[in-house]
Amino acid sequence: MTLFTARTFSELHKQPLTLTCHHCGAVYSRPKLEPDQWTQCVRCNSVLETYAAFTPSAWLAIILTAFISLIFANIYPVATLYLQGQGQAATFFDAVSVVWREGYQEVAFITFAAGFLLPVIHLCLLFMVLLPLSLGRLPFYFEWAIKMIDHLKPWCMVPVFLVGILVSVVKLIGLASLVVGVGLFATACAAIFITSFGRLDEHRLRLMALDLGVPAQLPSIPKPPSPARIRQVWAFVIAAVILYIPANLLPIMQITSFGGTSAHTIVGGVIELFQMGSWDIALVVFVASVMVPVFKLVALSVLLALTQFGAMHGLRRRTQIYRVVEFIGQWSMLDVFVVILLSALGQFGALLRIEPGTGAIAFGAVVILTMLAALSFDPRLAWRRAGYRRYISS
Ligand SMILES: [Zn+2]
Repeated sequence: MTLFTARTFSELHKQPLTLTCHHCGAVYSRPKLEPDQWTQCVRCNSVLETYAAFTPSAWLAIILTAFISLIFANIYPVATLYLQGQGQAATFFDAVSVVWREGYQEVAFITFAAGFLLPVIHLCLLFMVLLPLSLGRLPFYFEWAIKMIDHLKPWCMVPVFLVGILVSVVKLIGLASLVVGVGLFATACAAIFITSFGRLDEHRLRLMALDLGVPAQLPSIPKPPSPARIRQVWAFVIAAVILYIPANLLPIMQITSFGGTSAHTIVGGVIELFQMGSWDIALVVFVASVMVPVFKLVALSVLLALTQFGAMHGLRRRTQIYRVVEFIGQWSMLDVFVVILLSALGQFGALLRIEPGTGAIAFGAVVILTMLAALSFDPRLAWRRAGYRRYISS
C-alpha cells in the first residue's frame, strides 16, 4: 500500500476539485488516485479519500442483494425457543410488536426505526442516486439525497441488531432449547452489506458522479464551525449523564418463571452471563453497554472542555479520540435490542415470561443522546480555537 499525501491550498487554483478534512478543516486539491492509494490529511491524519474500486453498477448489485437479505431477515424467525413441548418463534416484527403491547412504545419505535425503517430508506436513497449515475445521468434530487444519506447512516443499526441476536441466543441456551432460524443468517448478510455502505457518504457519491463526467456540483468548502455547537453538545452530554443513573439502577428486564420474578439491571445481566460461563459474551455486553457509554461521555466532556478553553496541545490525539467516539456510536444500543428479542421469545405464559423494564427506556435515551452529542460536536472547532485556520498554506 502506498501512502499518498494530498497537495496543499496553494495549488487549489490550478485544479478545481477540492478535498476538505472534516476533522480539522484543512483544504487540499484532489490528486488522482491509483489502486491501493489513499489521501490523508497532513494536519490531523484523517483519511480524506480512498481509491474507489467499485462502479455505481457494482454498488447497485450489492444494494439489491442487501434489500433481499433485509426482507428475508424480517420475514423469517431469527430463532425459535422450545420449552416443555411448546415452541415460540420470533421475527424482528414480532419483537417490536411484543414490546409495543407491553407498553414500551418508545423502545418499540426506536427498534423499528433503527433496525428496519431507516436502513430501508437509506437503501432506497442509495438506489435512487446510483441507478441514474450508472446510466450517466444526474438525478434532480442528487444534492438532497446525498445529504440525507449522510444524516441517516449513523442511525441504521442492523449490525448491532445482529450481535443482539447472538447475545440473546447465548442468554436463552441456559433456560430452554433454542433453534436459530433463517432470519439470523439473513440478518448477518444484511449487516455485512450495510456495513460496506458506510463508505458511500455524500463526499464519495459526489466524487463518483464527477469522475463519471456527470455535471454534479463541485465539493464546496464548508462554512467555519459555529461556537454555538459547544453549548448544544454540553446539553446532550449533561442530559445523557442524568439519564445514565436510572438506566443502571432500574431493571432493563424482568423474568417470571416457576422460581418467581427476578429483575435484571445492565450490570446484573453481565454478571449473570459470566456466571453461566459465557465470559466472552459477558465481555461483549460489558464493553457495549457499560464501557462504550461511559467512554463516550467522558471523552466528549474532555474534548468539549479543551475546545472551550482553546487548548493547543494534543490536537491530533484529540481528533483521533473523536474518530473513535464517532465509530462506536451506535454499539451501546446492543442491550436494548437484546431485551426486545428476549421479550419476544420468552412468551410462555405461566412457564416463562420475559418483559422489558423501565431501565430500557432510560438506557435507549442515553444511547440516542450520546449519539446526538457526538454528531453535534464539530472537531474543527478545536483546531480553530487553537489558532489553525481552514487552509494549510504551502
Ligand atoms: Zn485534517
